[in-house]
Amino acid sequence: MELYNSIIEKVDGLLGNAQPKRYEYNPAKCWEDVGGNQLVMMKESAYELGGDNKPAVNYACVTSTDGFADKDEILVYGKDLNQIKGSVSFARIVLVKVNILDGEGEEDTEPLFRAIQDIDFVKYHVYPKGYMIRSSSDSHREQVRVSKEAVRKGITFEQVGNSYIAQYKKNPNIVAVKVIFVTTDDADYAGMRADAKKTRDITMTLSKILEGMATDCHSCSLREICDEVEGLKELHFGKEKKEFKG
Ligand code: SF4
Repeated sequence: MELYNSIIEKVDGLLGNAQPKRYEYNPAKCWEDVGGNQLVMMKESAYELGGDNKPAVNYACVTSTDGFADKDEILVYGKDLNQIKGSVSFARIVLVKVNILDGEGEEDTEPLFRAIQDIDFVKYHVYPKGYMIRSSSDSHREQVRVSKEAVRKGITFEQVGNSYIAQYKKNPNIVAVKVIFVTTDDADYAGMRADAKKTRDITMTLSKILEGMATDCHSCSLREICDEVEGLKELHFGKEKKEFKG
């Protein structure tokens, strides 16, 4: 079940030339969570990630293949939250590894679908204090207003990344999560935006397939994405066969 692998394979090439800082997951180092939506007013704001119309991209991909996200970690390309002084370009990319083998070692697609649903859930259920996230699924933007107080208290991507990973780890089928934060100028944000769109197209197609849509590829509105992404057609017709057998 490797629908997103062609996108994941491209991630390293989009991140620019900076050497990343790497942090292992440490649940004791999560940033304080306020548990719900918060408002950081302009006058309280230190800066915005993606502010002043700079790029601000977010997407997340699920895989069961080894080699993409084998351990829980946070990577930071560019300046960290406690070093930024004004609006910067921004991206947050998440790679989630799932175990799709059932107790008998057979592949089971259910954990994959649940992990995909969790991705959206987690996106809207992490509320780091003084880190106000504004997302737009249409434009794939994730802009963040960071408060002066949070900067004064030393907020870092390591802490925010730990908060995201802690949420993902509530799903026992998720075995590893890599959270990548990017604030460099030389990253390929346009390329990321294109891949964010493709990621969403794949996820929407999957949802349609799960809803039990018609099975005539010739008249199907999703044909373009199914022709492009290996595995979607197999998934649809494999599912049909399984349901037919009961
Ligand atoms: S496999 Fe065919 S019928 Fe199913 S979603 Fe893709 S194009 Fe449509």
